[in-house]
Amino acid sequence: MRFLAWLLAAALAFTPRAFAQSQPLPDLGDSGASELPPATERRIGESIMRDIRARDPAFLDDPEIADYLNSLGARLASSAPGARADFEFFPLRDSTVNAFALPGGFIGVHTGLISASDNESEVASVLAHEMAHVTQRHIARQLGLQKQMQLPMMIATAAAILFARSRPDLAQGAAIASHGAAIQTQLAFNRDFEREADRLGFQTLAGAGFDVRAMSTFFEKMQRHARAFDDGKVPGYLRTHPVTTERISDAETRSLTLPYRQHADSIEYHLVRAKVRAEAPDPHDAVRIFGDAVKDRRFASEPGARYGLAIALLRAQDPKGAEAEVARLRAASVASPMVDILAARTRSAQGDHAGALGVLKAAYARYPQRRPVLYATLDTLQAMNQPEQVIATLAEPLRIYPRDAKLHEARAKAYASLGKRLLQHQAQAEVYLLRGSIVAAIEQLQLAQSAGDGNFYELSAVDARLKELRAEHAREMADQRRPK
Ligand SMILES: [Zn+2]
Repeated sequence: MRFLAWLLAAALAFTPRAFAQSQPLPDLGDSGASELPPATERRIGESIMRDIRARDPAFLDDPEIADYLNSLGARLASSAPGARADFEFFPLRDSTVNAFALPGGFIGVHTGLISASDNESEVASVLAHEMAHVTQRHIARQLGLQKQMQLPMMIATAAAILFARSRPDLAQGAAIASHGAAIQTQLAFNRDFEREADRLGFQTLAGAGFDVRAMSTFFEKMQRHARAFDDGKVPGYLRTHPVTTERISDAETRSLTLPYRQHADSIEYHLVRAKVRAEAPDPHDAVRIFGDAVKDRRFASEPGARYGLAIALLRAQDPKGAEAEVARLRAASVASPMVDILAARTRSAQGDHAGALGVLKAAYARYPQRRPVLYATLDTLQAMNQPEQVIATLAEPLRIYPRDAKLHEARAKAYASLGKRLLQHQAQAEVYLLRGSIVAAIEQLQLAQSAGDGNFYELSAVDARLKELRAEHAREMADQRRPK
């Protein structure tokens, strides 16, 4: 049943401390959950995240889409009252229109949601709503996760309910996994939670300068879609966040209280949506669809259409055709790191890794904050079999982003290519630790200790880190055993 536990989804809710203090929680039921320490919430979320990453085939390891969702989320979070939340957004390759939150601020977004949107404000309205479920601790309260409950039980309960919400076909398996937790009655949020998430989500959306009418238009669109579906195929979001006529009219009424403000969609929104839409199962279908759109000039955004066509051509093994589209984007002065990364991919696909590296180095100088460019640079160096260059390139970013597991992973790979075993296992330990598995991290450090190829200083660093992690692990075990 462990196998099934990854397939979760829907909205779990806890709140970072800062937000909790500034935003009094209305009394909507069980208060036990509100005392759950933020560190525990984060650990529940990390544990579920680890399962999703390792076992959910829908988990989409696409740094560009993730980067876009996170910058959109950060913009929203900065306007949510008092929220200094460590939200982490991640995409799932799933054509249903859905999004969901895990404890600790992890929010999953189905590609179907991005694909179905007509503008950036619609995507933002769903993210803002999910963020409110998190900051208001709705799921925690609904699940009745309590301080007295032992951690493994909390994780199993959270997993079961999440699972039931987004993949009802597999819910029974999850129910068994959680030792028969009573989940069937909790498939949807209650109306008070939905209303509250709408209200706060609306404030966040308005504060961040998005088009506030997007919330009601997107709800309406989903309701229309729902009518066109057979029973079992209602879009996931409607099942987990029942959209009622009342919610639509509430959102509409709210938007009338504010002056109309147009929001210009970012170029990244158009590129990301095109990338998602270009993922049609058969790349030739995608080439045809985007090709027709470009030819007939039927598009909301020409850069988006051309970018989608280029992605589709690349998937259809036509890198030269893709490169021609990139050249047109450049000629039209479309500036985005996503275009640079695409340009590099068209070079690599023609075997010109050095050319790709040149493009990426120039892009990195222009966008030093955009990590997808860095990841693409590291991948290219790896493909060129230049592990020393990988390590040199990583030095500065690792100082700035010490909690980026991808960077540690690239380092572990590079040391493995160089045959430096102590350093490889040491880097791999950090990868596991950041992905929430302290036991696996300890194992890696033990391997590093016995590798026998490190100098005195390297070995001392491994010893010290191992001591730290063992102490932390012992504390965690004691916490789990002790009823609080
Ligand atoms: Zn909701």
